[in-house]
This record gives sequence, structure tokens and C-alpha cells, in this order.
Amino acid sequence: MDNEQDTNISEDELGLINRYTKRAFSAEEIYVFSVVLCDNEIDRDFECFDSSALDTLAKLYAGKSGILDHDPTAKNQTARIYKCEVEAVAGRKTSYGAPYRRIKAKAYLPRSEKNSEIILALDSGIKKEVSVGCSMGKSICSICGAETRGGSCSHIKGRRYGGKLCYAVLSEPRDAYEWSFVAVPAQREAGVIKAFNGSMKGEKNMEDIFKKLGSDGDITLTHGEVKALLREIDSLKAKARDGELYREETEAEMTRLCSIAEPELPLETIKSVASRMTLDELKAFKRAYEKRMSKIATSAPQLAPTESDKKKRVVNSAYKGI
Ligand SMILES: [Zn+2]
Repeated sequence: MDNEQDTNISEDELGLINRYTKRAFSAEEIYVFSVVLCDNEIDRDFECFDSSALDTLAKLYAGKSGILDHDPTAKNQTARIYKCEVEAVAGRKTSYGAPYRRIKAKAYLPRSEKNSEIILALDSGIKKEVSVGCSMGKSICSICGAETRGGSCSHIKGRRYGGKLCYAVLSEPRDAYEWSFVAVPAQREAGVIKAFNGSMKGEKNMEDIFKKLGSDGDITLTHGEVKALLREIDSLKAKARDGELYREETEAEMTRLCSIAEPELPLETIKSVASRMTLDELKAFKRAYEKRMSKIATSAPQLAPTESDKKKRVVNSAYKGI
């Protein structure tokens, strides 16, 4: 990414900066730098922003804070974008032949002891990478023109169809979330983090990966996609464990209630039936028994435990471990 540090701050710029500060800062107290947030070139996810989307994104990014990750142990090192514009680079075209455009942001941070190291890193021109996050409303396939997610499109981004590269054109930005400025490269994967339909889904979209997995022929997953897939599997495993636990609890509770409500049925029979019921059936029986029991409880208030109450308690504790 192209970043440059600006030493002179004009009065106009200072005015823009001071719109965001609690008190008015002087030019000497402020450090400013420029950073290219994103452009309309096809990125490593085989996605690109529609040219007009860049204009909207530039507006959304104005005023947004970014994290400066020079030292991973230091927290709260942030800069804020005070000016954000789309610029064309004369004569330069994207790989698909459109005029190349990019979002150039200007950000400031106070010159303080805490920020001295990051300012030094920015000054010394260490290669910098920017990672930005945004939510996009539309993602259109470059081959068929259909929505790439959940629609009729079955093309895989990054593949060629009749010699034409498949990529997604992103438009209708909904929100811009975050940007981080990594002064030391290789700390994290830089790039544009996109989300769709308002939710921040992270760098890799599972739907794209599943589409690849379901396609014909050999597939290649990137390192990032493999990581995303493993994360997804972990999350599904955790959900499955929760689901199993919920099923076990519901089955045990239904068995307990049933054994109270139907004392003539052998416990083993109830357990056997319960183990073969679906979760919905278990829930329906459980609700019905609970209803029946709450009616009994309200219609026959008792001051002292009766024989049957005592029996219930025994039943109760005996089935807790089911
Ligand atoms: Zn398509």
C-alpha cells in the first residue's frame, strides 16, 4: 500500500482534525499521514469494489478510528481518519480494464510519548499494510451477473470460464467498520475484510467455501480458507455438543415428569420410548406434563407433605442422573 507522511498541516486540515478532537489542537501537536484503504482492483479473494462503491465507502470511512499495531502489546494506539477521498491514478487501469481508482485517507494521531514509537515507524517508511473492514450489500458474479451468494450462480471465484476470470463485483456499501494499520508487515494478513448484508462475517465467507467443496473437479483451498473451514468445524462441534446436552436434559426431564404422571408405567419403558422420540416430541410431552402438574399444584395446596409428595421427591432425586 502507498502511504506517505505529511509534515505540513494546513489551517484547513487542522480545522477538519479539530472537528474530531475534544479540544483544539495545534499543528505541532498532531501527526498526520496518508494511507490507501482500498481500490477497485481484484483482490486476493477474487473480489473487487465497484467504482461507485468506492465513493460511498470514502464517505463512510471519514471519522473512523483505526488501530495502529506497531507493538502488539501496546493498546489504544489509534489514529482517526479526518479526510477521505477517491482518487484516480492517471493512465492506470485495473486488470479488467476499468480506470483504476482508490480511496486515499488522511489520518491523524496526537504526538505523545505513547505514540512516539509508531510515529517513528511511520516516519522511517517501514512497509505498511492496511486492513479494512466493511459491509457490502451486493456481490455480483463477473461471469453470469447473478448474486454470488445464495443465488443461481454456481461459478467459483478465481476460476476461468471460457478464458474469463470469475470474480465478484461488490457494490452498495452498508457500513465501514474498522481499519488497522500494520507498520510491521507479516504480523497479520492485511487486506480488505468484507461482510455481506450487514453482518461482519470475517475475511472468508463460508458460503464461497461450501460452493467450492460442492463443485465438480479438483478444488484448491487457500491457507485462509482452510483456516476458516477449521474454525467453522470447531464452531459446529461446539454447537453439536450444546445440542446433545440440551437433548439429554430434555429427555431426562420428560422421563422424570412422565414417571410421576404415569406411575403405572415401568421406568425402563419410559426411558426406552423417550430415547426414540424426536426433540420436538420430547418437548411437547414435557410441556403437557408440566401443564398437568401445575394444575394439580394449584388445585390442591397442601400444608404438609403427603405420602404421595414424599414419593415424588424420591422419584425426583432418583431420575436426576438420567
Ligand atoms: Zn456466476
